[in-house]
Amino acid sequence: MRQNAATLAEKLLQQIALPVQVERGEIGITASIGVAIFGSDGTGARELLANADAAMYSAKDQGRNAYCLFEPSMNRGAHEELALTQDLRRALALDQLSLHYQIKLKAPSGPPVGVEALLRWPHPEHGMILPDRFIPLAEKSGLILEIGRWVINEACRQLAEWRAQGLDVPSVSVNLSPAQFRSAGLFGKISDALTTHAIPPGSLVLEITESTAMRDPEASLAILRRLAELGVGISIDDFGTGYSSLLYLKRLPASELKIDRAFVKDLVRGGEDAAIVSAIIALGRTLNLAVIAEGVETADQQHLLTELGCTSLQGFHLGIPCAPTELAAHLA
Ligand code: C2E
Ligand code: MG
Ligand code: MG
Repeated sequence: MRQNAATLAEKLLQQIALPVQVERGEIGITASIGVAIFGSDGTGARELLANADAAMYSAKDQGRNAYCLFEPSMNRGAHEELALTQDLRRALALDQLSLHYQIKLKAPSGPPVGVEALLRWPHPEHGMILPDRFIPLAEKSGLILEIGRWVINEACRQLAEWRAQGLDVPSVSVNLSPAQFRSAGLFGKISDALTTHAIPPGSLVLEITESTAMRDPEASLAILRRLAELGVGISIDDFGTGYSSLLYLKRLPASELKIDRAFVKDLVRGGEDAAIVSAIIALGRTLNLAVIAEGVETADQQHLLTELGCTSLQGFHLGIPCAPTELAAHLA
């Protein structure tokens, strides 16, 4: 039975993957299939569908265009996710999320050009949970919109507090997730936060990843234009990993390109990554954008990136993300 189901799934994948002719060329589609078998994997429709669904998510995790037969361990993962999502909802309601801030310096070693707000979740049992673990859950459950609103507001509040203390923090950057970027309430949330804390729009920078910006480029462009009209800065995060079209990039109302850490990690003079970094910097110059490198971990990287022409730098070597009071001490 299991073998028959597997063979059928395999055939379906092959058929679905055949290219489809459309007016302007060919498109390829792939599928992810989850299989649950009556009897061994359940007897009720609800149970079978839920198990097939869990198997489909495993197939997606394996890189899509794949099938998976259900196994009981797959539900364990789903239960853990559900529990963590509930914890996250509670943490948000109880105001237990916090922001850490990482400094961005003018190359090579200062002064500060701003700070980036990075979300932290101190979980009562599991300890500190980093955003890569819980942002995907927040996106799946829809919690991201409320979390995003909290982050924007909190970052603006903190900036106002620092300035009231007489600290010179030129700007604060906030990361936007894909769902948040496309949500209807985004503009209202941003202008509310700016007004509430009397922050000039130019002091807030929104970071969206290159891949978010390049998904449905025309729609993204419309959103970015409206954001730019508000007067906030726009930074294209994780740049170099998202297959930008140069034509489209030219039209983006961005203020900054942020070179992905992947190109900084193994950076050596004359190497392939150095050539890519140089190309991004040249692009930034042409388009009149600041270019910042993230993930600067060594003095060598700091110097080489400066030599190549990066306008600013961010990374553990220049300052780790830290709580607002620590950052204030560092700045003062
Ligand atoms: P990102 O925006 O690209 O942020 C940079 C990440 O690199 C941060 O991880 C930061 O702690 C880490 N980092 C900084 N310097 C170095 C370095 O020198 N070496 C290495 N190895 N890592 C460095 P973090 O805080 O875990 O955040 C991961 C990602 O989660 C962020 O990537 C961002 O995409 C997302 N994120 C963080 N905060 C938020 C938020 O408030 N909202 C949303 N939607 N996403 C967020
Ligand atoms: Mg970022
Ligand atoms: Mg990044």
